[in-house]
Amino acid sequence: MPDFRFDPISARWVAIASNRAARPMEFISREEELSPDVVCPFCKGHEHETPSQLEVWDKEGRQIIDAEPDVDWSTRVVPNKFPAFPSDAPINPFDTNVLSDLHEEFGPYDQNRSSGAQELIIPTPRHVSSFGDLNKSEAVISLAAARVRFGEMKKKPGIRHAMLFMNCRSAAGASLSHAHLQLIGSPVLSQEMKDRLRRNQQHLAKHNQTLMQSVITWEKSKKVRVIAETENFCVVCPFASRVAFQIWLIPKNSHQDFASIDRPMRDDLALLIRKVLRRLDKLLDKPPYNLMLHTTPFGHSDHNHWYFEIMPRLTCPAGLEWGTGIWINPVSPEDAAKRLRDE
Ligand SMILES: [Zn+2]
Repeated sequence: MPDFRFDPISARWVAIASNRAARPMEFISREEELSPDVVCPFCKGHEHETPSQLEVWDKEGRQIIDAEPDVDWSTRVVPNKFPAFPSDAPINPFDTNVLSDLHEEFGPYDQNRSSGAQELIIPTPRHVSSFGDLNKSEAVISLAAARVRFGEMKKKPGIRHAMLFMNCRSAAGASLSHAHLQLIGSPVLSQEMKDRLRRNQQHLAKHNQTLMQSVITWEKSKKVRVIAETENFCVVCPFASRVAFQIWLIPKNSHQDFASIDRPMRDDLALLIRKVLRRLDKLLDKPPYNLMLHTTPFGHSDHNHWYFEIMPRLTCPAGLEWGTGIWINPVSPEDAAKRLRDE
């Protein structure tokens, strides 16, 4: 049963997900080689270990309709066996696609029991851990599948925002080492998402361009934080990077939202993510990282400039970060960009 709770002190939503305590933990405490005793449910030959697949793509990038579980696949999409955002409740009938949260209130608390949605996109039948370990074809096909699933998530009633992300390695939150993207559709909006949307709207009204367009223009003129550039994307270490080697992959054209990008742009993006992560893996000896797609709440794409973000997890947020939201970053983004740049 979904259980989203709102903390009135911090203005944060929390998904209470007691069912996830039952997850099989392949990782113990530190990164290790996969134990031979552990069956990886995402590897070829173990398809029956996951819930029934939702969609399957073959090695030519074609979607296979009514595929048998043991078909020769490149990307599989399956429901999350232990969802933090369960889909087993009715959609909150009061929930609307506007920036207000309608839910139960009692005492100082708010609670929302609307359904969410959560699925996994397995980008390869091979047991590799990083998006950078995918071959070019796997990277392109899995991102194409992610785009399709993101578009489907937008159509679900009551879902107001979707997050596509990859947790790579245990210190970044991965509970299985086999690389997998996750897509979570949320019926509630965080204060951070609302604030981000408001800042974008204000900047757009004042400057007639999105915040990210202003960032790209500035960074391209200065070059010191630019890592790479393609026809469609600019890759930078953000000016106020919260963590060492934080990376943004920003589309130059803000008019297409992620669900509607064309194939050249999509393939360009997949290969660019792969290239940047291979560089990161080489430079920092395979660090744990989170790869995330940032978009605005559904219905607000006109104020949006979506982008991918990579957050290497080299240090832990500690007292200051938890207590104040102010981060300490031991590596300047200028130095990080220089080390990640093309030689
Ligand atoms: Zn595996």
